[in-house]
Amino acid sequence: MGTSDFDYEPIVDILEDILGEYRMHNDYKGQMSFDCPVCSYELKGLDHGDGKGNLEVNYKYNVYKCWSCGETNDTHGSIHKLIKKYGTTKHLKRYELVMPEEAYENTKVKKNYVRLPKEFIPFTSVSEGLKKTHFYKQALNYINKRNITDEIIKRNNIGFCYDGPYMNRIIIPSYDENGNLNYFIARSYENKPKLKYKNPEAQKEIIIWNEHLIKWDEPIYIVEGAFDSIFLENSIPMLGKVMSEKLFGLLYEKAKEIIVVLDGDAWENSQKIYHKLNGGRLFGSVWTIKLPLDKDVADLQGDLSQFEKIQLK
Ligand SMILES: [Zn+2]
Repeated sequence: MGTSDFDYEPIVDILEDILGEYRMHNDYKGQMSFDCPVCSYELKGLDHGDGKGNLEVNYKYNVYKCWSCGETNDTHGSIHKLIKKYGTTKHLKRYELVMPEEAYENTKVKKNYVRLPKEFIPFTSVSEGLKKTHFYKQALNYINKRNITDEIIKRNNIGFCYDGPYMNRIIIPSYDENGNLNYFIARSYENKPKLKYKNPEAQKEIIIWNEHLIKWDEPIYIVEGAFDSIFLENSIPMLGKVMSEKLFGLLYEKAKEIIVVLDGDAWENSQKIYHKLNGGRLFGSVWTIKLPLDKDVADLQGDLSQFEKIQLK
């Protein structure tokens, strides 16, 4: 979260102002529960809450959700949305003055204008003519060397460029929940490239990699890179060793079970992420796998069967 000395008190005040007395408050985790403004009043016709505290708010993660009617009544999302929906204009103005910067960033409609290079050729649509060239053979050779199967290629729309700014690179695109491109990585398939990766300029911290492939109800693997992710179904790469606020928030809101599997040399990062995730409603549903020092998910081609998933103290 970065801002550990951030003053959340004004936000707590606003929440209490709108939602009434809290049922639970853990200020270390930034977590509070209230009676749901929708299902505990409207549906039951009460003029006070039902006392169940089904609405959980985490002001450090900037999210809220009602455990009873979150899906049916859309009672989940950012705190900004919560205040906009159930508070007054005054509340919202007050909140916008005191909200953390990360939360503010999330309210702006931001788009990454990423496009695939115009030289991009998906492996699934290579012409017979091109297949005979050394360009194609070189690209395919790399794919084979890394044991990337046809199924993986198809699922991820993997391709390559043999010309242009991404010349001699394997391209793995990422699509958002609606199937729109939101990023791609471009890995060289040359023997001694100057730059292994040449990725587009975009805000990595707001990208959820291939969100359209994620099944939130099933265990979700957190991995480091896109090459790890293609081998392991239902995995999300962080595109680095630290997790973005956006991914944290989304996991907190939607995931049921999480397994953190970073590269073997990043055990410390794994532990940090494990502990950060293992709280609130996710408590007890987070696992991690410690890989040997020199291994990552891609090396193992996503086969984690020989490793035990563990929970940390
Ligand atoms: Zn509710």
